[in-house]
Amino acid sequence: MDHRLIDLLVCPVCKGPLQLARNAAGQPQELQCPADRLGFAVRDGIPVMLESEARVLDGELASPPSAPTLG
Ligand SMILES: [Zn+2]
Repeated sequence: MDHRLIDLLVCPVCKGPLQLARNAAGQPQELQCPADRLGFAVRDGIPVMLESEARVLDGELASPPSAPTLG
């Protein structure tokens, strides 16, 4: 798997950068858009960049670039 492929990917919704979430084995599992709070699954190393296939993230982003701190 060429990781540069994933590096080049942007969110199909907002064209923003995506964060790669890995599973416990260190394998690419999901590409997450912090702006849209959407997660795009990576199946067999191939990202599924379809908004219709994305799932809504609920406070489970891998590493938000600028996590708001409230209180
Ligand atoms: Zn987005």
